[in-house]
Amino acid sequence: MTATSMDGRALAAKVRAAVKDEVAELGELGLATVLVGDDPASHLYITRKHEAAQEVGIRTIDHRLPAETSEDEVLELLRGLNVNDEVDGILPQLPMPGIDEARIIRAVDPVKDVDGFHPLNAGQLYLGRPTLVPATPTGILALLAEYAIPLDGARAVVVGRSDIVGKPVAHLLLQANATVTICHSHTDDLARQTLDADVLVVAAGIAGLVDPDMVKQGAAVVDVGQNRTEAGLVGDVDPGVAERAAFLTPVPGGVGPMTIAMLLRNTVLAARYRRGALAFPRV
Ligand code: NAD
Repeated sequence: MTATSMDGRALAAKVRAAVKDEVAELGELGLATVLVGDDPASHLYITRKHEAAQEVGIRTIDHRLPAETSEDEVLELLRGLNVNDEVDGILPQLPMPGIDEARIIRAVDPVKDVDGFHPLNAGQLYLGRPTLVPATPTGILALLAEYAIPLDGARAVVVGRSDIVGKPVAHLLLQANATVTICHSHTDDLARQTLDADVLVVAAGIAGLVDPDMVKQGAAVVDVGQNRTEAGLVGDVDPGVAERAAFLTPVPGGVGPMTIAMLLRNTVLAARYRRGALAFPRV
């Protein structure tokens, strides 16, 4: 058996087209980004986010600040963006050199937190009442839905427990009524867990961590990993897994393209919350 490849590029294109229609319907939408320092990868990510936003008609506001910018200066900028009526979404590009990430995340108005990292949004997800949810996990769930992977009652195993991928995707799977196991760097005998998975999501950042012997025949496997190696960009899942799994996301072209598409969708969602079309939970 060779797994069906779950095509993130195709689904992301569909999501972006739908977002474009929604933006046209809503009128002016603004997305602000805040970048500190000169890390080339961060600059590239931000440029890509701007291009993607502009393609769907979202106006972008680009703040690129020098590496010596203080935490207080960033907080001041965020306060201004929070009260700026032309801004629907705020994206602080993390990490910021020498700046406390948790303070930055808390400083974004939760209703403009399109990354879904603010404790209020993270808490809503934990409570099973999701508001703005991180883009990569939302993209993973969208891919699983697109390929009609059953989640209700399924055994789902998540490898990785980061705040941006592992934990939120585990909560989304739980909410979809899967029985969820979260594995991490202290997990003893990873294969014992992964072999049980009908749905396996791997987000560890280790090339080839999951090999074919660790995968149940017929499983749906989502490879979130993006590892730069001499062979180019590779995932956390050995490509040989395609011979055992029924579904597998490619790297590149699987989860990656979904992330920016879902970020744009979150911007539309944030605009609807802020404009009162949807009720946002305020204290
Ligand atoms: P992270 O480094 O914050 O977390 C990695 C997690 O993997 C940790 O929870 C750790 O406990 C776990 N882990 C490490 N070694 C392990 C092992 N041997 N067995 C089991 N678990 C182990 O990483 P992250 O930010 O969650 O990202 C994970 C990967 O996903 C990276 O390759 C990253 O580049 C990629 N990523 C891709 C996208 C995308 O859009 N495609 C988005 C975010 C992250």
